[in-house]
Amino acid sequence: MPTDVQIRAGAAERLSRMIQLPTVSAELETRGAEPFEAFVALLEELYPHMHKLLERERVTDFGLLYRWQGADSTQDPAVLMAHYDVVPVDERDAWTYPPFEGRIENGWVYGRGTLDDKGPLLVTLEAVENLLAAGYTPARDVYISLGGNEETFGDAAAAIAKLLKDRGITPWIVLDEGGAVVDSILPFTNGAAAMVGVGEKGIASVRLSAKSDGGHASVPPPLTAVGRVSKAVTKLTPGTFPAKAPTAIPRMLGTVAPRATGPGKPIYKLLSSWPWLNARVFAALGGEPAAMVRTTIAPTKLSGGTANNVLPSNASATVNLRLALGETVGDTVRRLRKAIGDDEISLEVLEGNDASPESPSDGPQFALIRTAVSASHPEAITVPYVTMAATDSRYFHKYFPHVYRFAPLMMTAEQRAAIHGVDERVQISELARGELFHRTFIENL
Ligand SMILES: [Zn+2]
Repeated sequence: MPTDVQIRAGAAERLSRMIQLPTVSAELETRGAEPFEAFVALLEELYPHMHKLLERERVTDFGLLYRWQGADSTQDPAVLMAHYDVVPVDERDAWTYPPFEGRIENGWVYGRGTLDDKGPLLVTLEAVENLLAAGYTPARDVYISLGGNEETFGDAAAAIAKLLKDRGITPWIVLDEGGAVVDSILPFTNGAAAMVGVGEKGIASVRLSAKSDGGHASVPPPLTAVGRVSKAVTKLTPGTFPAKAPTAIPRMLGTVAPRATGPGKPIYKLLSSWPWLNARVFAALGGEPAAMVRTTIAPTKLSGGTANNVLPSNASATVNLRLALGETVGDTVRRLRKAIGDDEISLEVLEGNDASPESPSDGPQFALIRTAVSASHPEAITVPYVTMAATDSRYFHKYFPHVYRFAPLMMTAEQRAAIHGVDERVQISELARGELFHRTFIENL
């Protein structure tokens, strides 16, 4: 039974105020912490019920954790996540309106962070505030976890996840950014789809290096350091890592099949019942489908040698890997070593994050997301997929099994390209739909 809620007007103006604060985490050194403190104060001003009725803790300098006590606090809580920092703007880019002006024009709000992630943050808080104003109490506790250094891989979300774990709390569901409502996801399909990330890939940068005796290049050994490293790099092909389809893929195809057109219908239906075939077909397709089913390798740097006629004493190459679901950095390095098969090449992990596990797409948590989507975006099917980018929720996925990545806003391909790019913007009507998503989500917990 839906709660009798008065929807507060002015969501676009509130988002505009958030955009006007340049919470650029990568420019913290030059801009200082002031925009971040101002953002925390702005939330207090814009969401008075929330700040009166919910407990708020500051966790590290950039994390905010709110607790909304539910009717039955013995039940595992829900955690709604978002981040309030944004990526920098390239001064050379020509924005239609200044990126931190928060311009409202023709039904849109423009500016850095409107989609990533202040828009999704706003719709979450709007729903909470509207429900609180109506005197609503959720069935279970609801935590709201806001981070201010997601874009710089900061520690706020990690600290919040650890805090919950240390308190013996295992959330029933965690919901963060990562997916969106998009248009036609695969060939021979049409219509909108709410893409819900049930896992996210890991990342590793690994340096391969070799040493050899220097000397004059007129009497070279069979293999110099440069030759050895080059040889190692050529051994790393897309096939170095086996393709394995996450459970989400056959489910995605099964969900898409009834809506597919032409040859899509029989193809997706068939593929959905043969998971082993999915892995091969997706791998063969290359691009994003291949990236969903396997660890990808991209050699990104190569260096060695000092002069045209001198044997190099050192050479190195860096490869950037995106780890398939369930893979660890350790597994990945072991497999690299095996593929290279040369003890003279040393491997060094420069940075690394394990991939997340996969959250179930057949349980009550996924069904709840589907219910909320059918209220906010009734034209969309709800589809599980693998998020390629890193989100703060990976820290939660380390401890908790039910983590989902979805922002309930329609984002066209052009809009998605504007995330971290130029003319990032959100449609005001989508803010209303996002609020409805979260309100439905909370009411059905
Ligand atoms: Zn983000």
